[in-house]
Order: sequence, then C-alpha cells, then structure tokens
Amino acid sequence: MSFRPFLFVLYLLLFARIAAPQAQAPALLPADDRYKADLLLIVAHPDDDVVIGGYLARIALDEHKRVAVVHCTNGDGGGNAVGNEAGASLGQMREIEARRALDYLGIHNVWFLPGHDTPGQNVLRSLDNWNHGRALDDVVRLVRITRPDVILTWLPDPVVGENHDDHQASSVLAVEAFDAAGDPTVFPEQVSPPRDRTGMANLTEGLLPWQPKKLYFMTDAFEDWGPYWHDSEALSPYRKTIVDHTGPVYETSTISPSRHMSYAEITAEHQAFYLTQEGDIGVQALKSGMFADFEYHAHLIFGKSLVGGTVTGDVFDGVSPQPIAFARVHGYEGPQQNGLLFEIGDPWRFYAMFWKAHDLDRLAELIPIPEATPEAGGKLALNFLACDRTAQPAEISVIPTMPAGWTTQPQFTNYPVRAGECYPIQVLLTAPPAAKSHWEQLSWTATAGSHPVGTVAVRVFVGKNGGLPQ
Ligand SMILES: [Zn+2]
Repeated sequence: MSFRPFLFVLYLLLFARIAAPQAQAPALLPADDRYKADLLLIVAHPDDDVVIGGYLARIALDEHKRVAVVHCTNGDGGGNAVGNEAGASLGQMREIEARRALDYLGIHNVWFLPGHDTPGQNVLRSLDNWNHGRALDDVVRLVRITRPDVILTWLPDPVVGENHDDHQASSVLAVEAFDAAGDPTVFPEQVSPPRDRTGMANLTEGLLPWQPKKLYFMTDAFEDWGPYWHDSEALSPYRKTIVDHTGPVYETSTISPSRHMSYAEITAEHQAFYLTQEGDIGVQALKSGMFADFEYHAHLIFGKSLVGGTVTGDVFDGVSPQPIAFARVHGYEGPQQNGLLFEIGDPWRFYAMFWKAHDLDRLAELIPIPEATPEAGGKLALNFLACDRTAQPAEISVIPTMPAGWTTQPQFTNYPVRAGECYPIQVLLTAPPAAKSHWEQLSWTATAGSHPVGTVAVRVFVGKNGGLPQ
C-alpha cells in the first residue's frame, strides 16, 4: 500500500468513528412518585389539621387521594396539657403526635419546617420570626416535590376567632408558593439539574417547576366549631359572610365506607392523638361514644382555580392529571389614589394589597369591615396611616368615636405629614370589662383643616373575659 491510500483509509476510519451514533442515553428518571400529592395541606402547627379532619379522612381513606402536609412550625410555643415538657422539647413531641394522628388517616408524607411557634395576632410578626424568605424557599421546594393539584391552607385574613398569626403566616406562604412554584426564576437553584446525580455534593436540586391548580382555605372562626368555642353565638352575626356559599361544605356525620364509622368519630380518634393539646376532648368523646361535638361541617373557602369549577363545587372538580402551564398573577401595583388619605394600618393594609397582588380580590368581601379583638385585660393596639400624596405638607387630625367606657392613648390628635409620605399612627385602646361577649364598632375620622380626609371603622369583639373568646 502506498502512503497516500493509507492516509485515506485512516481518514475514513476516524471519520466513521466520529460520525457513528453514540450509545443510547438513558431515559430521564421521572419525579419520585412516592411524594406526589393530590392535595397539599399547608398549616402552622401540629393539630391544625383537626378542624378539617373529617374532610381529610374522606379524601384520604375513601377517595384514595394522596394527601401531604407541611407544618411551618412544630408547635414549640404551645402549652402542654399532659406533661412538664415545654419549648423545643414539646415541639419534638408534637411532631410525633402529628405523625401518628395523620398516619391514622393514611397520610404519611408530613414535613415540619424550622419556624418557631409565635403566639400573637399580627401575621407580619410570624413571618419575620420565621425568616420569611427562608420559609418561602422551603414551602416552594415542598410544592415542587409534592406537585399538588390542590393546595389547602388557613384563611389569609385577620378574622376574630382565627387570628393566630402563625395560621395566617402559613397561609401567606402557601399563597406565595402557589403563585411562585411554577416560575423557574423563583429559587432557580431548586430547578437546575444536579451536576452529577449519583455523585456527592450536588448543590442544585433537579426539581421541576410546578403550577398547582386550585387553592382553598379553611378557618375555625365559624359558629358550629363546637368543641372549642364558648362564645360562638356572640361571634356568629358576622360569620355568615365567611361560610355561606363561599366554598364546598362536607358533612361529617356520614359513615366512612372503609372504616365503618362516621367521619366525626374518625376525627375524634384523630384528635385524641394530640394529647399535649386538646386531645382529651377526643378521648372523652371516644369514652362516651358521643361524637356530636365533632359533627361540625368541613367548610372550605374557595380561593382560586386555574382549571375551572365553581365556588361551591367539589374541590377536585376540573382537576385532571396533566400538568398545567405557569399562570402569572396580577402582582403589586403602586398606590392608586392621590390626595390626602387615611387608612387602617398593618396587618389589614398588607392584606388589602396582598389579595389584589395574588388574584384573591374576593377575600375582601368576606370581612368587609376590619375586625379585631383585645388581648386578655382588654388591651388592643391598632395601627392607622395618614398619607399625603400631594406636593405639599399637610396636618391631619384624627378623632376617635368610641362606645362608653373605652379609653385610648396617646392623646395626639394632629399629625404632621410630609409630602409623599405616610405617618404611622398607633392607637392603644382599653375595653371596659364586659359581662357578656359582644361586638362593638369604633371609628376614627381624619380631617385636614375643614376638609374631610376619611373615616375608618373597626369591629371589635370583646370576649366576656376581656380577651380572646377561646
Ligand atoms: Zn394552630
């Protein structure tokens, strides 16, 4: 063979080697189906699930839906009805209570985030205490892991009777995660493929963006929440706007085909696992065989749907297994009004902006007048904002109108407001002792010189002990 043909053959061999098809790449691994949820419940504390226990039993045991639960705290700030253990130790025990209680309902994928239980009534305090951004990172990750069709959470609204700031904080995170988990630019490290899946020290997580389809809320601030409310009759006049025709309602006196007992009795069994909390109510019901206290309806409040259905229709109406495209929400827009303004402050002002930004405008109709309830001893702090959206400074006067017996501090009436700014006004009130729980309406009227600026009314629920009715 001469040299030239030899090179030609070598060239062919090399070319053939380069152009030959490579070995077939393996199929991509699917997302781990063990963690797939039809419904993801996002709550604040171990035992928050009891209010919706009958519904969870129905879908998990008899409709064979996959349910997963995220607790934003382990309840380390709660009391202990059966032992001396408190704080972090109690939190560890409450995790086990929740795992056992949910296991009884056939729910095994249960997570606890590191937020601390923060007793109070201002959602923004809980979000701060939980490190809002870090907590949202965790919740978005769990939405992407569980890929839920439906997210169920507490009602993001300061409702008297359901004012626990942690409950509301869990719902704020759930709403934010509903709208963010499908967006690959939010926590992008979660949706970037790992460098080497089977190797060590992968710092990107290999999840996929996920858009949940329907969002529902739950609340315990309604009158037939039997075992817990002592003042439900007094509360009820303003509860109808929350529960009547706002979402699907499920009976709990019906019999579970799989367990051959009512969903109310199943809820009593479920409740009885939470012995450090109100578990004894379940224990006593099981001893007596009387479950009337657990026959409260499971009320859900419709939040929004990206797959149709009606407000009061079944939670899973319109849901099919196919993933849906990311749905962009409205988002925040700057202030819409000019001139001088007087409005209620946080957390109510936050919610008014939050609902609009997350396409939940309908929540503004549930409680048309802001509600509040004093702490024990009758003390109540409220916040207002006096805003000047003009080019000139202004002096805004604020005068309260209160029922007899109420006192207020401080005694300032005139607030200097610079152009383009808002003056935060905090009002400390003391309610007179009340023989009976009842509602009162208070109002504050703002003027600038002789011009009216605005009036804000607040409904205050005064419990018979001066504080929360629970
Ligand atoms: Zn709770």
